[in-house]
Amino acid sequence: MIKVAINGYGTIGKRVADAIGYQKDMEVVGVTKTKPDFEAKLAVNKGYKLYTAIPERLKVFEDAGIKVEGTIEDLIEKVDIVVDCSPNKVGAENKAKYYEKAGVKAIFQGGEKKDVAEVSFNALANYDEAKGKQFVRVVSCNTTGLTRLLYLIRENFGIKKVRATMIRRVVDPKEDKKGLVNGIMPDPVKLPSHHGPDVQTVLDVDITTTAFKIPTTLMHVHSINVELESDAKSDDVVAVLDKEPRIMLVSAEDGFTSTAKVIEFAREYRMRYDLFENVVWKESVSVVDGELYVTQAIHQEAIVVPENIDAIRAMFELADKDESMKITNETLGIC
Ligand code: NAD
Repeated sequence: MIKVAINGYGTIGKRVADAIGYQKDMEVVGVTKTKPDFEAKLAVNKGYKLYTAIPERLKVFEDAGIKVEGTIEDLIEKVDIVVDCSPNKVGAENKAKYYEKAGVKAIFQGGEKKDVAEVSFNALANYDEAKGKQFVRVVSCNTTGLTRLLYLIRENFGIKKVRATMIRRVVDPKEDKKGLVNGIMPDPVKLPSHHGPDVQTVLDVDITTTAFKIPTTLMHVHSINVELESDAKSDDVVAVLDKEPRIMLVSAEDGFTSTAKVIEFAREYRMRYDLFENVVWKESVSVVDGELYVTQAIHQEAIVVPENIDAIRAMFELADKDESMKITNETLGIC
């Protein structure tokens, strides 16, 4: 049984913690918070052992009447691996401060630079490269969505060149300090957006990406165009995507007319309306003169959760790729 710490019980951390709870080969020993807020109280109510992410803040939690078991340093001593879900760039600081010193394995998230880890990870694309590693980075939500789709296209039809546009939710639903109320923001204005180079950390493809932020919080949408190496028809591509559990095909005919409708479906389908899959509009899958067009939506809060579980299995060599993905899919209801 692999013992896991979650450092940073926020949007990603709380989801990874709950997902670990469904696995038989790993368990959450403790989670960390920086502040004694409602999320800290919820973590304790759910039965997680709480530790302070910042050692000096122990007293702040005690003064707020929240039971903590100790500091991140105490927690690290009890675990085999830390899943670092702290904010962008903080993971690299935690690595230098704690993980390297303790010699513990750690997984970082997509907000960290690629050099924080020995390998950037996507379960479909490069599971084996994480085997036995100490430090692994699970790529971001957009990169995970692009990589899954492009891996399947490359393996089945070959890829000459990819052009993709990311239409990004500006912030997550919980944010109240920042956002974009009006307007569409090219981000960045100059090509390329970071997504293309990030995909190349896990998948060898020729890709150029652009990105825009828009005033919505629910999901990202990707408009993807792929020059294929082989002849393929739209139906051939649909058949390949249909077979992969981490891709969910939806249809406008069924009422999936926007991300609002996709999320409305997800509210009934999963806890926290989490969609771990790429949501691909079936009608959008079109091959025209050897070029494939696809539109997909990505639930940014959830898509990297199964990848974190598979990364743990790869790093401890608990299972091979197909076995790990199958267990993760079954336990998280991905089918
Ligand atoms: P978040 O702000 O929701 O959660 C971060 C948590 O870390 C908070 O609970 C915060 O209190 C805590 N924290 C702050 N300082 C810390 C420290 N020094 N040590 C440990 N914990 C600390 O952020 P998030 O959205 O969960 O993002 C976490 C990581 O996941 C980032 O790298 C981000 O880029 C990546 N990611 C986010 C999304 C998304 O859409 N939310 C998707 C994929 C990947």
